Amino acid sequence: MKYADLHVHTFYSDSTFSPEEVVACAKDKGLSAVAICDHDSTEGIEPCIRAARQLNIEIIPGIEFTVEKSDVEIHILGYFMDYKTDWLQKKLAAIRKARIERLSKMVSKLNDKGIPVKVADVLSIAGKGTVGRLHLAQTMFRTKKIRTIQEAFDKYIGFMKPCYVANVRFSPQEAIGAILKTGGVPVLAHPHIMGRDEYIPDLINYGLRGIEVYHTDHKPSVAKHYEALAKDFGLLITGGSDCHGLGKGRVLLGGVRVPYTVVEKLKEEAQRIRKEQNRPS
Ligand code: AMP
Ligand code: FE
Ligand code: FE
Ligand code: ZN
Repeated sequence: MKYADLHVHTFYSDSTFSPEEVVACAKDKGLSAVAICDHDSTEGIEPCIRAARQLNIEIIPGIEFTVEKSDVEIHILGYFMDYKTDWLQKKLAAIRKARIERLSKMVSKLNDKGIPVKVADVLSIAGKGTVGRLHLAQTMFRTKKIRTIQEAFDKYIGFMKPCYVANVRFSPQEAIGAILKTGGVPVLAHPHIMGRDEYIPDLINYGLRGIEVYHTDHKPSVAKHYEALAKDFGLLITGGSDCHGLGKGRVLLGGVRVPYTVVEKLKEEAQRIRKEQNRPS
């Protein structure tokens, strides 16, 4: 049986893993395919393709967008987009630039609360990656003012917590639209983290095609719930580990995987979307 992990980060966003490490780890776990879904960036895709060439592992081009409704954060995955499209890359570069300003605002709020973090230290942990809250949490951890990375989110920088600042982002409709327009398949990431099933019909109206039913943070009962929901709505069922290297304490890659037939279904869906959008396949 061939398996794929359809949600993996690299150090081009907030994983500690280089493309070479992602691919070596995927080989070690016996995976046939891995989707590279960095936050607001597609920079890791080609380095992963190059690293995977000798190892017979398929790299699926992906992305993870953060969008916001008034009271929740929603993560949307996109698979098989024409990611080199100029307007898309310009938009991604603008979002990444805005993230640095957002970081400065979160850092000042943390400094006011007595957490002595510096923007330069966070940027140095982020390296070439899209800078985000996981890098900030790692920097906070080094100050020893928090005991775990999770505590940084629970007390300070989680959604709507005192030091949280939203980034410039797509609306749900824009993110899904951008994925479709570039021939990609939009999938709702880890819906349990959003926790608002009532928003799913709107996302479907915008063009959502799948749900990430299997995810590290989904217990079997949660996965069962979303599996039924995906079936009811006629959506694709996908799954991935959301591995951040050692960024979240342990390597998750391959811990959640789906049969390769899911990849085939995503490819068929991408073909359909391309026909609808009049794009070459
Ligand atoms: P950002 O893109 O900067 O908003 O950061 C998003 C990343 O922060 C996610 O991909 C997770 O890695 C992490 N994250 C966000 N919220 C939480 C949370 N409540 N607990 C743990 N990690 C979180
Ligand atoms: Fe992340
Ligand atoms: Fe996510
Ligand atoms: Zn992710």
